[in-house]
Amino acid sequence: MTHELRVQAISQVTDRKPLPSKIPQRLEALWANDVFTLSKMQASLPKDVFKSVKHTIQTSGKLDVSIAGAVAAAMKDWATSKGALYYSHVFYPLTNATAEKHDGFISVQGDGSVITEFTGKVLVQGEPDGSSFPTGGLRSTFEARGYTAWDVTSPAYVMETDNGVTLCIPTVFISWTGEALDQKTPLLRSNSAINKAATRVLKLLGHTEVAPVNSSCGPEQEYFLVDAHFAHSRPDLLLTGRTLFGLLAAKAQQFDDHYFGAIPDRVQVFMQDVEERMYRLGIPAKTRHNEVAPGQFEIAPVFEAANVASDHQQLTMTILKSTAKKHGFVCLLHEKPFAGINGSGKHVNWSVGNATQGNLLDPGDTPHTNMQFLLFCGAVIRGVHKYGPLLRAVVATASNDHRLGANEAPPAIISVYLGTQVEQVFEQISQGQPESSAHAGVMDLGVDTLPVFAKDPGDRNRTSPFAFTGNRFEYRAVGSGQSVSGPLVAMNTIVTDSLTWIADALESEMAKGTDLNVAAQIVLKEVIDKHGAVIFGGNGYSEEWHKIAVEERGLANLRTTADALLVLKAEYIEELFDRVGVLTPVELESRFDVRAEQYIRAIEVEAKLVVSMAKTIIYPAAVRYLSELSTAIANSKAIGIEMDKESAEKVAALAQSMIDNVSKLSAAMSKSDFGSTENHMQYFAQTIRPLMDKVREYADALEGEVADDFWPLPTYQEMLFVK
Ligand code: ADP
Ligand code: MG
Repeated sequence: MTHELRVQAISQVTDRKPLPSKIPQRLEALWANDVFTLSKMQASLPKDVFKSVKHTIQTSGKLDVSIAGAVAAAMKDWATSKGALYYSHVFYPLTNATAEKHDGFISVQGDGSVITEFTGKVLVQGEPDGSSFPTGGLRSTFEARGYTAWDVTSPAYVMETDNGVTLCIPTVFISWTGEALDQKTPLLRSNSAINKAATRVLKLLGHTEVAPVNSSCGPEQEYFLVDAHFAHSRPDLLLTGRTLFGLLAAKAQQFDDHYFGAIPDRVQVFMQDVEERMYRLGIPAKTRHNEVAPGQFEIAPVFEAANVASDHQQLTMTILKSTAKKHGFVCLLHEKPFAGINGSGKHVNWSVGNATQGNLLDPGDTPHTNMQFLLFCGAVIRGVHKYGPLLRAVVATASNDHRLGANEAPPAIISVYLGTQVEQVFEQISQGQPESSAHAGVMDLGVDTLPVFAKDPGDRNRTSPFAFTGNRFEYRAVGSGQSVSGPLVAMNTIVTDSLTWIADALESEMAKGTDLNVAAQIVLKEVIDKHGAVIFGGNGYSEEWHKIAVEERGLANLRTTADALLVLKAEYIEELFDRVGVLTPVELESRFDVRAEQYIRAIEVEAKLVVSMAKTIIYPAAVRYLSELSTAIANSKAIGIEMDKESAEKVAALAQSMIDNVSKLSAAMSKSDFGSTENHMQYFAQTIRPLMDKVREYADALEGEVADDFWPLPTYQEMLFVK
C-alpha cells in the first residue's frame, strides 16, 4: 500500500457514476416471482396434496412424507422453468452465515441419456458432509454425518445471480445423533413451545377458538457502505470488516446532518436494486433511510412469522453484500467499523399472535381493562427480569462488544422500557387495582391548515435496549451482522417460561374458586412486585443508571463477551432451555463452545493484523516522513536557520512508542496455555484488546503528524465523505 494507491482510489471514487437506474417494474409483477408460493403450489399440485402441505405450513404440524414426491416434482418443474439446473438445501450453521451445497437435478439413464429428477426423498432430507462447521465438540470430524431436513414453513425459492439459477430449500441442520447444529432448529422448537404456553393462557382467559400462536419478527438492519476502491486498500476492512486504525476526521457526525438526509444518488440506485431482489424473493422491504453516521443506512421489512423473517433476514444480508459489489461498494455489517462514529445494530421487533386473537401485545385504547394484553406484557417483563443476562449473552460477540456498554447505546444492562401509559397501569396493579389508562390524546399544532394530530400515549426512549413500542417489543442490542435467530429463540424461550408460570398460577388461584379477573390481578401483582425492578424509563446511557441498575436494582452489567457468554453455562439457563424443550444441555454447551471459540478467533485475527499493519504500513510511512523532516532540518542548518525539531521528535517518539507496544502485543499473543476457555476469553478481553488499543492510539496520533502525502491508508474523511 503506497500513498499513490490512495490517491488513485480517491480519483476513481470521485469519477464514479451511479449505475443506470432501472425503470421499476410494478410491484405486483415483481412480488414473490422467485418463490414457490402457496398459490404456485395450489396451481401445480393435486388438491389433496396441496391441502396437506398448506395445513402443515399453517399449523406448523408434522409433514406427511408420502406427499413429498408430488411436491418435489412440482417444485422441480417450476424451478427448471426458471432456468435452474441445480438445487440446494440451504441451512444456517452457528457461524451467522448461510450455508448451501449444490446438487444437480441430473439423472443419467441406462441408455446414456439424461433427465432431470428430484425425488421426495431428496427434498425432505439431505446429507451435506459439513464436517467443517463449528459444532462445539458435538461431532468429531470422523463422525461427520450431518443431515438437513426440509422446513416446510419457510418457502423454497430460486436464487438468481450472475452465475446462474439455483433452487433453494430452507432446511434445518442436525447431527447423526439428532442434535441441532444450526440456528433454525431451536427457533422452530421455541415457536412450538410458545404456541403451547400461550394457548394455555388464552384458553384460561375463556377463548374457545384459539388458532396456533406464533412469534413474529420485524428486523431493522443498519449497515455502512464504503466505496470498494477504499475498502480494498485497507487490509483491516478487507479481513476484519472494521478499521483497526484511523483518526477521526474533523467532521464526523456532530451535526447529525446525515440522519434522514437526502439519500445519495449512487446509494439510492443501490437500494432500489436491493429492494427489487428482495421483492422477487417475497421479502417485504418497506423502509429505507440514511442513519446517524455518514455512510450509514438502514433497511427494514414489514414483520413476518419469526421463522420466515429470520430466513429472510439472512437473505437480506446476502443481498446487501452481493448487490453492493455490483455497485462498487463494500457493505459493512460489522457493529463498529469506525471508532468514534455510531456503530450498526439490528433492532429485532418481536411479538406473539395468532389468527383468532390477533397481536397478543396490542394494548388497545384502554390497556387497564385489557387483561389479555397485561398478562402477555407481564410475561415479557418477568422473562426479561429473570433471564436478562441470557438476552445479553445471545448478542455477545467480539464485534458487538465495541457497541454494547462501550461508548454508545444500548447499554449492556438489560432493562425494559414500557412507555408512560403502560408503566402507569402496572404501577396501579402493584398498588391495588388498575383503574385508568393515560389517553393517547391529540395535539393542536397552532397551524390552521394542519389537521389535529393524533399523539401516541407514550414517547419513545432510544436509550433502552428492550423497549415496548406500541404493540411489540423492540430488542435493540442485537448486532448488525448477527443472525436474528438467537435473540428470537431467547425471547420465545423466556416468555414461554413466564406464560407457563402464569398459566400454572392462574389455574391454582381459580382452583380455589377465585374469579378469573381477580386471579389475573393477583398474578400480575406478583409479577410486577417481584420483577418490576427491570422496568426503567430514564436515560439508559447515564452513569447514574449504571450505578442504580447494578447496586439498587440488582441487574447485571456484563460488559464483555468474555463475561456474558458464561451465562450460557449457568445452571438456571441450562435448566430453562431443557425444561422448555428448546436446547438440550449438550446442545447448549456446544453453543457456548462455538461462541467462545469465535470470540477468541475474531480477536486473534485482529491482533495479528494490528501487528502487521503497524509494522509494515504505518511504521514505514512514519520513518520515511521522519527522514524527510531530518533532511530538512539538516539542510536548514546549512543555510544558517535553526528549524524547529519538535515535529521530528514527536514523530520519532510516537513511532517508537507504537513499535514498543507492537512488541508487547506480539509477546502477549505468544502465550498459549490458558487452562480453560473462560481464562482464554478473559485474557483476550483484558490483555490483548487493551494492547491493540494502545498500538492504535500511537498509530492514530501519527496519522495526525505525518505529512498527508506520505500516509498510505485511506482516511476516515475519505471513506466516509468522498462519494
Ligand atoms: P422504528 O424505526 O420506528 O422502530 P421501523 O418502521 O423502522 O420503525 O421498524 C419497525 C419494525 O417493527 C418493522 O419491521 C415493523 O414491521 C415491525 N413490527 C410492527 N409490528 C410488529 C409486530 N406485531 N411484531 C413484530 N414486528 C412488528
Ligand atoms: Mg427501531
